[in-house]
Amino acid sequence: MKKTYLFFLLILLILFQTSCKSLIYGNNPVKESRFMLNTIVEITLYEKEKYSRVIFDDLFGEIQKYENKYSRHVSESEITAVNNNVGRPVKVSDETIEIVRSSFSFSDMSEGLFDISIGPLVDLWDIKASNPHLPSEKEIEHALEKVDYNKVIIDSDNNTLFLSEQGMSIDLGAIAKGFITDKLVEYLSKTKIRSAMLNLGGNLHLYGSKPDGSLWQIGIRNPYGSQGDYIGIIQVKNTSVVTSGIYERYFEIENKRYHHILNPKTGYPEANNIASVSVICPSSTMADGLSTTVFLLGVDKGMKLIESLEKTEAIIITKDKKVFLSSGIKNGNISFKLTDKTFEIE
Ligand code: ADP
Ligand code: MG
Repeated sequence: MKKTYLFFLLILLILFQTSCKSLIYGNNPVKESRFMLNTIVEITLYEKEKYSRVIFDDLFGEIQKYENKYSRHVSESEITAVNNNVGRPVKVSDETIEIVRSSFSFSDMSEGLFDISIGPLVDLWDIKASNPHLPSEKEIEHALEKVDYNKVIIDSDNNTLFLSEQGMSIDLGAIAKGFITDKLVEYLSKTKIRSAMLNLGGNLHLYGSKPDGSLWQIGIRNPYGSQGDYIGIIQVKNTSVVTSGIYERYFEIENKRYHHILNPKTGYPEANNIASVSVICPSSTMADGLSTTVFLLGVDKGMKLIESLEKTEAIIITKDKKVFLSSGIKNGNISFKLTDKTFEIE
């Protein structure tokens, strides 16, 4: 008799707790995906369905607005206008000045390896083409002459951008997704959403903690596996997790892989021993810019850069399946659990 009574009390308590949580945090996750920014954007909100739909429209609307500004594949974008008017200053919005300026900070950190004037080389390699080919030395040399971020001139008094040499073009692919994510986070902070996951083609932002207050469990992608394969799991909240890797976009000729992160000194895809870099830090612009920057710098210099920055951690996976962790992950500040034992922590 007493046992049955206790049992019912327990059930009641559980029901009460669950309904409290759903009152405070909303219900189950509500997801929406759209193909944007040349990739799949998936947003997950932990809110009531009806309210979530309103937020989705606003968030995807924001992404569209920025894609229309920054994409060099959108004919009316500000970046297209700059690229099509070499030699002339082009009026742009404050936000375009802002993204170009932050890209320069990554150029500084990477000894010039991060370079948004990489456009001519990206076009030459055309990694996404249906029938990609290896460019000739001559073609590479020619394209390299057009790559130099010092010739991207900002005039902040007049809000203009200016490319000083014919054939130059800007490509914001290494930073735009991160920059846009920060704008989405800014928007979310003005709503009553407390938990959300923003996934812009693998550029993640974990907004808040999970609805029950626990940390998000995020798989670190296996650069040699298929999508969904991971080598280990980190636990985080309120942060961005962005990965740059050799598996994202590439083609192969005679067993050699040519991927999409290009070295502006050699003109070839960066050929160091890194397979992927994941950067974990609050700002998505930083995480996106840094993942590409660290990739280009290599393990030693890249890790040194990460260690010099506050609240910034990284996981680097090399082609020989070694895993390098920054100090805040090693000391357990951010928990990382290796689950694929064919990889080895250094
Ligand atoms: P993803 O686009 O997969 O998120 P990254 O953030 O690392 O990966 O950015 C790679 C993209 O950045 C390329 O597709 C290209 O548009 C651009 N890019 C390639 N090489 C460089 C470079 N050295 N500096 C700046 N941008 C680059
Ligand atoms: Mg990047």
